[in-house]
Formats: sequence, structure tokens, C-alpha cells
Amino acid sequence: MSSFPAQANTSLLNRYLTPEIFNELKYLQTKTGFSLNQAIESGLKNPDSTIGIYAGDAESYRLFFKIFKPVIETYHKISIDQIHPSDLNPMDDRPTAPLSHAIVSYRIRIARNLKRFAFPTLMDDMDRAGVEELAVNALLKLKGDLKGSYIPLGELTKSQRVTLAAEHLLFGRGDRFMEAAGINRNWPASRGIFISDDHRFAVWINEEDHLRIISLDRTGTPRTTVGITKTYNRLARAMAHLEQNLKFARDPLLGYLTSCPSNLGTGMRAGVHICLPGFKTWEKEITETADKYQLQIRGTHGEKTEIKDNVVDISNRQRLGITEKKCIETLEQGLCAILADQRFTG
Ligand code: ADP
Ligand code: MG
Repeated sequence: MSSFPAQANTSLLNRYLTPEIFNELKYLQTKTGFSLNQAIESGLKNPDSTIGIYAGDAESYRLFFKIFKPVIETYHKISIDQIHPSDLNPMDDRPTAPLSHAIVSYRIRIARNLKRFAFPTLMDDMDRAGVEELAVNALLKLKGDLKGSYIPLGELTKSQRVTLAAEHLLFGRGDRFMEAAGINRNWPASRGIFISDDHRFAVWINEEDHLRIISLDRTGTPRTTVGITKTYNRLARAMAHLEQNLKFARDPLLGYLTSCPSNLGTGMRAGVHICLPGFKTWEKEITETADKYQLQIRGTHGEKTEIKDNVVDISNRQRLGITEKKCIETLEQGLCAILADQRFTG
């Protein structure tokens, strides 16, 4: 496409892609061969995209900075003028605030891509197999409670599928946004799940990013034995091991580099599944409170899914320009505000 695409939607791509920027960037290609057309294909095909633009490799952000910059600054509500801070040291195991019966589970995930490989939007079969091999080798060295095994998606048994799906640890073929971005190519080759023996830690390989590293605790009884700091510290230990064994794509200002600009920086989405019986009635008010604390609301089965049985996914929206710990604190503060309003908890 060499002429400016007309769009009528609310995506950040639509807001910032002017004919001037389009014409300046349209014939550029990264060294691995990623173009503006590829970056915006998903946004153009899906008018209801929130962001609408993906990176194909680490270089995409710099080469197409004219369009990525305003998108990133608006999404993360920052200006890109400082070194991205990072702090993945363990946290004090303090009582979790808020401790609520409404919380069903805590989940924190971190997105990472390996240096020197194209990202999932652009990678070929060789890249995908290479990422899988390097990641699995590193993961199989994990010890203690992080010790686990790797199952390629194509080799999952029916019962493994059922178990992992019930635990919210399964991933499937990406939705239409990822489909249009090219992330589902040659599905499910070289995609798989590393899962710890206790199923509290998992790594998705070759989903939207090379790695999605997940720590997940269901509450249940006794409720006080789990909490966001435990979930976080497990993840921090895993990350320290992975940092030593793998080289991640990173930029001083943009932090860890991810397929979608919404995940730049920490790559961290820290959230809870929380049961809010008042959600349908008070959706507008709950969303306003969430917005005030820079939190995001998703459906029970992930982004752009329905809310089932009043179980809502609430997580931090900003990931760039703040530390991992700040992501957690933001979540806790916002949750306290939501839980303080008894209309919402029913
Ligand atoms: P992400 O992009 O962060 O991986 P998605 O919105 O794509 O998240 O959802 C991925 C999966 O994670 C879905 O199956 C969703 O149900 C599950 N999930 C998200 N938050 C939680 C949580 N707090 N507890 C349990 N499962 C969760
Ligand atoms: Mg996702």
C-alpha cells in the first residue's frame, strides 16, 4: 500500500497516523525486513483495535519512531524522555492489601523477546524453533518450586488441555487482532507451555511475544497463604534465572521490547480475577475508578472476552516508565478503592 489508508476508528494508530508520517515511513524496512504496512495491517483490518500497530523486531521502534512515539506516550501516559527504570528484586513478604474474599486469583505475567530474533509478527519457522529451543533449555534448568516440564501445544493430551484451561494457563490460536498481525502463522509449530510441577508458574512460548512468563495463585482456603507478594516473588526468582540464561531485547528508553507497544517497559501485567456481583449495574462507575488508578478491566477469559459469573480481570495499564514494584502498588491502591465501594462488591 503506497497511498494513505483512510480509517474511521478510535485506535491510537488512527489518531496519530497522519498522511505526512505515512509518506515519510512507507518505504522504510528494518534489517530483518519489517515495513510500516506490516506494522499497521492488524489495526487497519480491525477497526475496533485499541492500539492498532505492532513491532516486527527490536529495530521497528526506532525506525518507525514517528508513529510509535505518540502511541506509546498516550497509552502509558508518559513522555519518552527518561531511562526506563527496572527493579525485579524480591519484595518484602508483607500482608497483601487488600485481602478480600472477592479475589479469586492473582496473576502476574511478564512479556519478553529474545535479542537477535524477529518478533512473532515477523518470525519464520526457523526463528520460532530457535526461540523454542533456547527458552526450553533455560527453563528446564529451573529448580525447587519452579522445576517443571515443557509440553508443545501440538502434543497436549485432551486431559492436559482441560486441566490447563480450567487453571487459565492454556493459550490457543491468537484472536483476529493477532491473526491479522501474522502471529498465528504456521500454528501451532514451536508453540508450547512450560509448566511447573505445582502449576503456579508457567511460560508460554511463541504466543504474542517469544515468552510470556506467568506466576498465578488461586486463593481458596486458607486464603492468607497466597497474596500478590508471593505471586510476585516467585516471578522475580524465575526472571533472575532467565536473565542469566537468555538475552532479552531491550532499549534504554523503552525498556524491554515487545510486539505490542502497550507492553513495553516492564512487560508486566499484574492483575486479579475478582468477583464483583455489582459489575453489570455499576460498570461505568467501576471503570471510572479503575481509570483513575490507571487500571484496566478485561473479561474472564482474557482481553476482549465476556465477563462470566461476575469474574472481572483488573490489572495495571501502564508498564513503561515505572518499575515492576510500582505496577504492583498501583494495582493494590486501585483495588482498595474499588473494594471500598460496597455497591461494587454486592
Ligand atoms: P495476557 O495478554 O496478559 O496474557 P490475556 O488477557 O490475553 O492476558 O489473558 C490470558 C489468559 O490469562 C486468559 O485465559 C485469562 O483468563 C487469564 N487470566 C488473566 N488474569 C487472570 C487472573 N488474575 N487469574 C487467572 N487467570 C487470569
Ligand atoms: Mg494476551
